[in-house]
Amino acid sequence: MEIRYWNQRLETLPRHELRQLQLERLREVVGYALQTPFYQKRLPKAGISSPEDIRSLDDLKKIPFTVKDDLRQAFPKGLLAVDMEKVVRIHSSSGTTGIPTVIYYTADDLDRWTDLLARSIVATGAGPADVFQNMMSYGLFTGGLGMHYGAERVGMAVIPVGGGNTQRQLQIMRDFRTTVLHITPSYLLHIHQRMPEFGLTPADLNLKKAWMGAEPHSENTRLKLQELFGIDIYNSYGLSEMNGPGVAFECVYKNDLHVWEDGYIIEIIDPRTGEPVEDGQEGEVVFTNLIRHALPLLRYRTRDLAFLHPEPCPCGRTARRMSRITGRTDDMLIINGVNVFPSQIEEVLMSIPEVGTNYQIHLSRHEGLDRLTVKVEIYSKLFTGDLAALEALKNKINEKLRASITINSRIELHEPGSLPAFEGKAKRVVDEREKL
Ligand code: ADP
Ligand code: ZN
Repeated sequence: MEIRYWNQRLETLPRHELRQLQLERLREVVGYALQTPFYQKRLPKAGISSPEDIRSLDDLKKIPFTVKDDLRQAFPKGLLAVDMEKVVRIHSSSGTTGIPTVIYYTADDLDRWTDLLARSIVATGAGPADVFQNMMSYGLFTGGLGMHYGAERVGMAVIPVGGGNTQRQLQIMRDFRTTVLHITPSYLLHIHQRMPEFGLTPADLNLKKAWMGAEPHSENTRLKLQELFGIDIYNSYGLSEMNGPGVAFECVYKNDLHVWEDGYIIEIIDPRTGEPVEDGQEGEVVFTNLIRHALPLLRYRTRDLAFLHPEPCPCGRTARRMSRITGRTDDMLIINGVNVFPSQIEEVLMSIPEVGTNYQIHLSRHEGLDRLTVKVEIYSKLFTGDLAALEALKNKINEKLRASITINSRIELHEPGSLPAFEGKAKRVVDEREKL
């Protein structure tokens, strides 16, 4: 396989040099953090009153974690480390889990972030010859503008269409012979389901790749979409608190995501104790941003669950890889006492060929017991059966689910296109238990 780099020196930096670079950059961002009211209160208490108090990377452990609520408390400027005159961009998180938070960037911050995006893009084998349709929303959400500038830096032809309006998206893909998409898994699933309406099949398009992210999805979802479209799909991970997309990205080996460790220090902790877990063990992902000065964030608890691969990748990059996100510490469902992550359900559904591209997880309470109903759209191309076949399919889905989540569910089969569709991040869990 041909391996191309954007910044070969940094991407293949020997690990001890990488750690040295992390240390230098950590000192620098601690210096900025000490300019903010928020960290001025916190860091000296932890024995860090100047950047020199960080003598080795081990000293990172002295710094207390920062959590999403701290960002809200510090709203609007408690974490701002530079004069507003130096700020050239403001983004805000989409607020999937509550009040939005604000992130500031200087021109240099944007430049460093853009470079990591350019690196991510090249790692997937994309380049100047590609036509890139950016289907993430523009605006305060970082997925749109972030990737936009990365793609321009690489020299791709960027179509800044943003999210939504499926008919226009398909029209543009056809007219401009789009080769690369940046999209959420929910929207790509939805697009496939809508194509017949416009008399299109993937063969009418020129798509080669998609960068897929912004929400959790299973390997089976990737495989299903790759097959439906006949393209290569790469997992793209980021969060606004760490600038946005381009924190971790898959290379052409599609073997989980390289974390750009010259830009971010990653730690995996036990969410209950805050202690580090062994490499390969799953835990909560914690990041320290090494490249943003306007709003420094140290040891930020993402609530995302993943594990680290210690072994090197055949592409030669020395940045370690993190697994796909297996869930969030705050999205675990407790159903009649059993812990279930929505991702487990998705993984099973997407392994069943007769299941279509949309589903919903519904929870209710009956006579004191939780009831899990999984609503799935059928894939009409593969499913043309009669009533008996429908029953058999329901049983098959229930049994496969029970093998994974250990509990029984009611399966409802729906016509393609009948469940709520998503053009951005999906909301698939409907929990009506509290209301009863
Ligand atoms: P929020 O959704 O918390 O308001 P963002 O819009 O910045 O904030 O979204 C970041 C979150 O989106 C991540 O913390 C993670 O939960 C999720 N996410 C982003 N990319 C991926 C991905 N490739 N796989 C799984 N989850 C992802
Ligand atoms: Zn690699």
